[in-house]
Parts: sequence; C-alpha cells; structure tokens
Amino acid sequence: MGRTVNLGRGQIVPYPEPSSPEATAVGKANRRTGTKPEVELRRALHATGLRFRKDLLIRAGGTRTRADVVFPKQRLAVFVDGCFWHVCPEHFHMPKTNLGYWEPKLQANIERDARVSKGLSADGWQVVRCWEHVGVDDAVRVVAAALVGLGHVRAGELLAAASPVVAPPP
Ligand SMILES: [Zn+2]
Repeated sequence: MGRTVNLGRGQIVPYPEPSSPEATAVGKANRRTGTKPEVELRRALHATGLRFRKDLLIRAGGTRTRADVVFPKQRLAVFVDGCFWHVCPEHFHMPKTNLGYWEPKLQANIERDARVSKGLSADGWQVVRCWEHVGVDDAVRVVAAALVGLGHVRAGELLAAASPVVAPPP
C-alpha cells in the first residue's frame, strides 16, 4: 500500500496518486476555501449594506466550524457548499478513478455537514446552506429572508433598495 490519508474518525484511505491527472484536476477545481461563489456572495451581501463576519469560528453544540458568512448577533451561519465537495444532487459526479479515496472522503464530508448543522441548530443558530450553483442574487435573497425572520428588519429594506428588479409577489 502506498501513501494514505487519515480522514479522522478511524478512516484511513489510499492517497489519490498524483499520477492520476483526473484526481489532480478534480482537486484543483474544487478548492475548499476562497471559492468564487462564496466570494461573490460576500461581495453581493456587502454591496447591499449588510455587515457580517467571514470565516468566523463558531463553537456550538459540541462542534466547531467556520461558516463562510456569519451574522453573530442574529446567530445566522451561512455556508456556500461546493457541488463537488458537498455532493450536490444535481451536479455531483463521482470521479472515475481513486474511488477508494473519494467515496469515504465525500461520505465523511456529508456526515460532517450534517453534524455541523445539527450542532449549530441545537445551540440556537440558524443555518443556511447555499449550493454553489445557486445564483448569487438568489443566495442574497435567501440570506436576507433568513435575517428578516431573525428580527433583522433592516435586511429586507437593504435588499429592496439594492435590488429594485425584485418584483413583488403577484
Ligand atoms: Zn450543484
């Protein structure tokens, strides 16, 4: 057996050898942080006038996690989930090589997401997860709606002012 990767919780799997161009390409195209969708969401939220923390460490419900966008006062944690790493039902494709690496790793990601969401909720946080494929405007609306629901009345006003194209419901 060659190199291995310890995924934690007793899972040790073969490292995807860099001799596989596919694995390398997948890895490069799916970086974990600073991905474009989360940067775009932060920029768009900021442009509406909303203020938040980014990558803030949250300890809650026995878990610790860094959410992409955090509104500490409203206890709202927003994650932008990449379609590959978080196994989007619409866009995820299992790599054709190194299944012994990818399957347990992605399964561990799914389980961690569930654990984090549950831990945050148990401690009074609201969790919003946006798939990276969701358009930034929709993501902003989801976040603003969650904020309004949490008593951040300005969020609705700021969103309305920033997005005059949003039509009222018929
Ligand atoms: Zn997707």
